[in-house]
Amino acid sequence: GAKAIGKNKYHYYTKSMREQALKRVTLISDMRNAIKNEEFFVLYQPIYDLKTGKITKAEALIRWQHPTHGVVSPYDFIPLAEETGLINEISDWVFEQVCKNICYWRQHYLPELQVCINTSPMQYVDTENGIATWLEHLRKSEISPQAIVLEITERLLMSADHTVSDILAQFRAAGVQVALDDFGTGYSSISYLQKFTTDIIKIDKSFVHSINDSKINRTLCEIIIMLGKKLNLQVVAEGIETSEQNEILQALQCDFAQGYLFSKPIEPEELTALLRDSS
Ligand code: C2E
Ligand code: MG
Ligand code: MG
Ligand code: MG
Repeated sequence: GAKAIGKNKYHYYTKSMREQALKRVTLISDMRNAIKNEEFFVLYQPIYDLKTGKITKAEALIRWQHPTHGVVSPYDFIPLAEETGLINEISDWVFEQVCKNICYWRQHYLPELQVCINTSPMQYVDTENGIATWLEHLRKSEISPQAIVLEITERLLMSADHTVSDILAQFRAAGVQVALDDFGTGYSSISYLQKFTTDIIKIDKSFVHSINDSKINRTLCEIIIMLGKKLNLQVVAEGIETSEQNEILQALQCDFAQGYLFSKPIEPEELTALLRDSS
């Protein structure tokens, strides 16, 4: 009867909750060993200059090849890494890989590329071991700071902490650029542009996906692009999947494009080949 079904549902529900909690705990403990077990890898998604059609930037995106779960999405493990503090170690590892790849591209005389690296708010809290160590590393290395872009989100700027703006200012003074990711999805995107200096804004893919659905979505993209021009910022549209979306963005004079229409995230060797072809 109804009661039995209800009861079963209840059991099913608690079981799945328990499973989820277990999965969470296992993922967290597995994540602690993932670096030394070499389960992480970095893919690069090319970003194209819409005026020249050339790849001038690429976004570094982490992947986790879990021994039993297959490839785990960063949407699933980055939040856990942030909760547990593992994010600092993981981010440093990503930075290290990016530096290695940049050195390789440089040594092989490939066209210069800016690599965009996603960063998490927690990296800006620890002033000793946090992201500031990247600056030191860059100073000691042969990598030009101009080759690096830090991607930040409004979540970081919301803290309104002046250590955050101090750290970002130090990076910018050294020549590292700052990109505001997922632009438009927060509550006060425009006010952050006024308070924190950035170089690039990335239009969130939710706006790009809906660009041909309605006049209002198209207008929103248009306004973000105009804002970028007025403030002298580069504008990247992310998540372009169709040629219709691309045509609209080109008509609106968007500067840069990133999305499956052009390329999905690829292995560093594949990016090397693309850069070679285009040079
Ligand atoms: P994000 O920084 O906004 O990165 C863009 C995401 O959109 C990537 O997902 C990318 O694969 C996906 N994407 C690109 N083009 C398209 C498209 O045309 N259509 C659709 N539907 N999606 C597209 P991914 O690689 O799964 O990463 C998800 C998020 O995880 C990233 O969003 C970023 O917030 C975070 N993340 C990834 N790598 C790192 C990392 O190394 N460190 C940190 N802190 N976060 C990372
Ligand atoms: Mg990003
Ligand atoms: Mg240097
Ligand atoms: Mg984004």
